[in-house]
Amino acid sequence: MRTWRQIRPGLLGLALLGVVVSAAAVDGQAAERRPAEVVATTGMIGDLAERLGGECFAVHTLMGPGVDPHQYRPAAQDVGRFQRAELILYNGFGLEGQLGSVLGRLGSMMPTLAVAEEAAEAANSAGHAGAVIRAGDEGSAPDPHLWMDVGLWRSAIDPVASQLGAVRPDCRDAIATRAAVLEQRFSALDQWIRQAVRSIPEPRRVLVTAHDAFAYYGRAYAIDVRGIQGVSTTAEAGVADIRDTAALLVERDVPAIFIESTINPRTVQAVRSAAASDGHEIALGGRLYGDALGEADGPAGDYLGMMRTNTRRIVEALGGRVVDEG
Ligand SMILES: [Zn+2]
Repeated sequence: MRTWRQIRPGLLGLALLGVVVSAAAVDGQAAERRPAEVVATTGMIGDLAERLGGECFAVHTLMGPGVDPHQYRPAAQDVGRFQRAELILYNGFGLEGQLGSVLGRLGSMMPTLAVAEEAAEAANSAGHAGAVIRAGDEGSAPDPHLWMDVGLWRSAIDPVASQLGAVRPDCRDAIATRAAVLEQRFSALDQWIRQAVRSIPEPRRVLVTAHDAFAYYGRAYAIDVRGIQGVSTTAEAGVADIRDTAALLVERDVPAIFIESTINPRTVQAVRSAAASDGHEIALGGRLYGDALGEADGPAGDYLGMMRTNTRRIVEALGGRVVDEG
């Protein structure tokens, strides 16, 4: 028979026992609480959810690199994902076309959040009235590409964080900590972009791309933006659009024009040819990421990298100078 003295563990043993017991308890909790499933439409939104949610959430992004959200048609397996999801995050303001209106209706049955619409709302109540750019013939359709203004997209952090916290209240503190870090990173990048764009010689501060994804970018960072094709990619650019754009480039001696990762480069080529017939050579300034992130392992594989990559390409092609982020 063992005496008490024999079985009494030393202090170190007690400490280890404590560690094992608490690890087992945590394991038990983890088994009960699997990561909550979140579906995000665009990469920009998926990235935000991943950064805020950490290991509490499993985020699935529907639209990968090169996928045009304006033209997206849900696949059969998407429906299953929507049904399993504890939260669906989408952009709203018409970016997702038909899928967006379906998700808008689903909102009465399950937790959904139109992230860009909430961000605009948050910006408005923080005193930035007129945060949403209105476009279109009627001048009334909201431009959905809010993420192109990093300072404005920062307003998406709070609503997404609070929805994630509502799904997993046990993760609220961790989400709040991540949100604070992310807000600082967004602010720093916003400043960096503003400075970089300012280095482009003034008359050349013109950004021409195939569609109007960059209106928010232009307003935030003080560069004229000309989309050849309108806000949605479903509208075709006409002959007059191409001629007018070429004339502008010639007049302001703009050295480069840009293609977008999700857009057919045909219209951009047409503008280059039109300018060339006026004797003005226009370089291709490289591929910009408008409506989708780049490949996961590349420089534009997350939202911050996307904005940094776009800015580097724009500034360098138009004759400005980028400094490394401090
Ligand atoms: Zn777009």
